Amino acid sequence: MSKYHPVIGLEVHVELATQSKMFCGCPADHFAVSPNTQTCPVCLGLPGALPVPNKKAVEWTMMLGLALDCKVNLESKFDRKHYFYPDLPKGYQISQYDAPLCGVGKLGKIRIRRVHLEEDTGKLQHTTLNGKKVSLVDFNRSGVPLVEVVTEPDLTSALEAEKFARELQLIIRYLGISDADMEKGSMRLEANISLATSEVAKLPGYKVELKNINSFGFMKKAIGVEIKRQEEILSSGKKVTQETRGYSEETGKTFSQRTKEEEQDYRYFPEPDIPPMKYSNKQINELSNKIPELPNVKREKLKKLGLSVNYVEVLVADRSRAEYFEQALRQAQGKLAEPAKLIASVMVNQNLDQDFPEPAGLIRKLIELGKRKYVQVDEVEKVVQVVLKENGKAVQDYSKGKKEVLGFLIGQVQAGLKGQGNPRQIQEILVNSLSDDQN
Ligand SMILES: [Zn+2]
Repeated sequence: MSKYHPVIGLEVHVELATQSKMFCGCPADHFAVSPNTQTCPVCLGLPGALPVPNKKAVEWTMMLGLALDCKVNLESKFDRKHYFYPDLPKGYQISQYDAPLCGVGKLGKIRIRRVHLEEDTGKLQHTTLNGKKVSLVDFNRSGVPLVEVVTEPDLTSALEAEKFARELQLIIRYLGISDADMEKGSMRLEANISLATSEVAKLPGYKVELKNINSFGFMKKAIGVEIKRQEEILSSGKKVTQETRGYSEETGKTFSQRTKEEEQDYRYFPEPDIPPMKYSNKQINELSNKIPELPNVKREKLKKLGLSVNYVEVLVADRSRAEYFEQALRQAQGKLAEPAKLIASVMVNQNLDQDFPEPAGLIRKLIELGKRKYVQVDEVEKVVQVVLKENGKAVQDYSKGKKEVLGFLIGQVQAGLKGQGNPRQIQEILVNSLSDDQN
């Protein structure tokens, strides 16, 4: 055991899947769209343009806060966060500072510090044009609603951080407010990592911010190697520099991006063009009622049915599949023996739900298959004897080596059983009977 204790906090950014951007009417979905085709004076930051907040984005942020047990603030406002970067045309980002939409909450044992709403920036593209290295800016992403979830530094390992992020992603998908896709960049993670010594119970006096993490796998690896790096520095008696580091997939190491001597001064001040937002408890209750059953509640319900952890996880990982399972189960009551296990098994192992868009269809199929199982062997044998007697020509052909008549005979037996036989069983009995005939 290492004598150091990792202290990890996460900042998660999620692009909301609203129709339009945060403060203008441009389409918000910018994935694989040709650059700079979804812009207007507002999201290009042209002088005089006035932002109008997207109500849906505000409500979705509050719903996410409610799903994370956050205290929703009845009064909230937007602020300007100033910094200079080429992907930020206004020279400031509209964000939330001291009055976020949602305050303290929790997900499992991990405390949430806040959930707030802001606008995304444009996207820089470093490339080569006509032999020259250039940086291009695409403003399609500029102004897309972006939710930020900030945790307290309660996470203690790379694995725990990964589990937290995956669960958060699942909740966001259940809410239907974003696809939260790491590869597409609609969910982005930053981890703040430092190491505490066992003797010192308080937080270490530094933190390293890890950026550019674009998959859960990389997140786990990046946090793991960063913890190791800090351990080595501290073990040798040196201090860890407070800085921002990136993770290189090629070297499997983290590298310094910029050192932060102290907290950057963003000169926050209230956004003068947007009045403060006020919500009533009644409105919050209405939003609360719109929240679907969340993954953890579903998990507990499915476990109570006696399903294995593996089945439960596969079903819960997709809200529509979990709901399909529940519907199918309701429709199977009294019609199938051990319906929960049977339905889960054919969904998880055979993806049978994909063949039947409606759960009713799946249940009909399972009942049919169930009946087939109960056709007795002696009944099959009886029909086989009748079929062989009535089809002397086919039997002769078979004995002469024309094995393809077997398919015809199986069909005749199946017809005699009104389609309730198991094809493999019929074939077995037929082949045995035919070779008996030959002897
Ligand atoms: Zn726009």
